[in-house]
Amino acid sequence: MHILVSNDDGIHSEGILALEETLKSVGEVYTVAPDRERNAVSHALTLHRPLRIDEIAPRRFAVNGTPTDCVNLAVKGFLPVRPDMVVSGINKGPNLGDDITYSGTVAAAIEGALLGIPSLAVSVVGLRTDYRFGPAAEFAASLAAHVAANGLPANTLLNVNVPNLDRSELKGYRFTHQGKRLYGEKIEVCPNPRGKHYYWISGDDLGFDPQEGSDCVAVNEGYISVTPLHVDLTNYQALQSMRGTRLPWH
Ligand SMILES: [Mg+2]
Repeated sequence: MHILVSNDDGIHSEGILALEETLKSVGEVYTVAPDRERNAVSHALTLHRPLRIDEIAPRRFAVNGTPTDCVNLAVKGFLPVRPDMVVSGINKGPNLGDDITYSGTVAAAIEGALLGIPSLAVSVVGLRTDYRFGPAAEFAASLAAHVAANGLPANTLLNVNVPNLDRSELKGYRFTHQGKRLYGEKIEVCPNPRGKHYYWISGDDLGFDPQEGSDCVAVNEGYISVTPLHVDLTNYQALQSMRGTRLPWH
């Protein structure tokens, strides 16, 4: 059993180190991760410049690219073995609701799934400081062992979010659906010293839509959320109703 670890927080992230440690009990771990933080790069693939891979320790490799680059290169022949599983994380910060469309963490697991490998994304729901990686690393290893024994449905990855709590404070886990995070619509405009403006993308955190069974609700109630995802973005309900539509086009 060979496990590929990656994540967008970069090769030196404590979250990656915590994950490597517990996954050793499940299989032989290789880490191929960006050489620096590459948060919110989504599923970007580097096609217009060469990539460099540095071995910084045995079976640990830093890439000057995106999380998706890392998984792509690792699986398609850089590593001496084809990984049996991809685990991306442990991310510093949540990947809940539709935020996952920006996520480099989830994208690394998506890349694994697209390449036909059972894949997990694991995040701890803390905000910028004091991350408790222990319970998330422990849960990730037990989930990885379960997936190794039982497999996953085809074209499926699991998105896991762990509340930033001590082990004894966690209420358990729930299988969930992707919820919806809510943000205020705001940009920050500031003057620069040369009289031009620059912009920060921002938006106040307004919480989440309280849909029953969602990842956001589970985590808010102290449960680990496990959401099965797939990459088919088709809205089948809309497709069904649109098939009866006539467009003004001849
Ligand atoms: Mg990150």
